[in-house]
Amino acid sequence: MLELKKPVVIIGTGLAGYNLAREWRKLDNETPLVMISRDSGRSYSKPMLSTGFQKSKTDADLTMADAGTMAEQLNASIHTFQEVEAIDVASKAISVDGTTIEYRDLVLATGSSPIPLPFENSAFERTFAINDLEQYATFRSEIREGQTVLIVGGGLIGCEYANDLNLAGYNVTLIEREQRLLSTLVHPEISLALLDHFESRGIDVHLGTTVESLEASDRVIAHCHNINLTGDIVLSAIGVRAETSLAHNSGVVINRGIVVNRALETSVPNVYALGDCAEVEGHLLYYIMPLMLCARALAKTLSGQRTEVSYPAMPVTIKTTEYPIVSQLPKSPEGSWQVTHSESGIAALCHNQEGELVGYCLSGSEIIQRAALTKQIGPTLA
Ligand SMILES: Cc1cc2nc3c(=O)[nH]c(=O)nc-3n(C[C@H](O)[C@H](O)[C@H](O)COP(=O)(O)OP(=O)(O)OC[C@H]3O[C@@H](n4cnc5c(N)ncnc54)[C@H](O)[C@@H]3O)c2cc1C
Repeated sequence: MLELKKPVVIIGTGLAGYNLAREWRKLDNETPLVMISRDSGRSYSKPMLSTGFQKSKTDADLTMADAGTMAEQLNASIHTFQEVEAIDVASKAISVDGTTIEYRDLVLATGSSPIPLPFENSAFERTFAINDLEQYATFRSEIREGQTVLIVGGGLIGCEYANDLNLAGYNVTLIEREQRLLSTLVHPEISLALLDHFESRGIDVHLGTTVESLEASDRVIAHCHNINLTGDIVLSAIGVRAETSLAHNSGVVINRGIVVNRALETSVPNVYALGDCAEVEGHLLYYIMPLMLCARALAKTLSGQRTEVSYPAMPVTIKTTEYPIVSQLPKSPEGSWQVTHSESGIAALCHNQEGELVGYCLSGSEIIQRAALTKQIGPTLA
């Protein structure tokens, strides 16, 4: 009797899951593929969420394909609105829709989730985070013309949404605990220039300010240690955390993310991880480029050619669209910075003692130097 081939199962239909499926299907169109998502399974580019308001895009506009279309394109069976709660790693099986699916290989592409606000919040019904299409749609349906958004967090996500909602015509108040914007990502002079830019656009920025609680009244009051700020709706942007609970519940080793080696193998045989959920040799990188590189490497591994991933220098782009920023911070804090201001931008370059370029941070018109500078910098994971 002909034995049916066991499928490759991918949990997660974000950019990591779908990119892996696409890359793998180029190499193997025979082995069955099952994908499972706790969301709608729509294919979309997550970075577009934080430029969507200024372009008046609905969640439907941002959708590139629905789950049915993806299933056809990928020759896959896609289960949506199904949360996988445990993996039976001993018998290599998961349970979905009341059915047990035995896998040949299992890939965790469970992404990351917003960190919940760590203080008392009686305005929780007016508090949102936007980390996927569904949350984007919800926020869009809740916010009204002329309202003030209180954004908690002035990192990449907070600054991008501040920029986007401001350009879309909303009033924006941005609250950041540190003394500068993008404090972990850019050179201090670029933080300062972004602050000037935001203030010139009418964004009300409060630095060095910690929110202690949110209170629902007619409007929403953010009680900070030094000031009370009022708005209509809150956008929480204090960071994301790798989604590791499924892995942890199933006995897969986790640290800050799901621990994988450079071949993206977890501690459990035939179980792999990539994307925001994966900690690849100690690197937790919540960006597109690493996940694309991982998708290509893992596709080969799943086709029988075990492949390790390597990362070149991967600068981060901050989509503060009228004052764009690109940053590739040096791996170690030693090194000396030279900062040049031009009429419409800043170039901050960091060299080591040998005079080699080890990092840079560019803003405004200076971002044009990005490709040339990136070429000079060594790999992140050689
Ligand atoms: C606003 C914003 C702007 C960004 N801009 C940029 C940018 O400009 N450049 C850049 O490089 N990066 C950017 N990023 C980061 C980038 O978008 C992410 O790194 C990337 O999209 C992560 O993809 P992922 O597939 O790993 O995770 P996700 O997109 O989070 O997908 C996770 C998937 O797993 C599913 N899932 C999770 N747990 C379960 C479970 N137990 N059972 C079933 N399904 C489950 C979810 O339903 C989802 O389908 C941005 C992020 C945000 C939020």
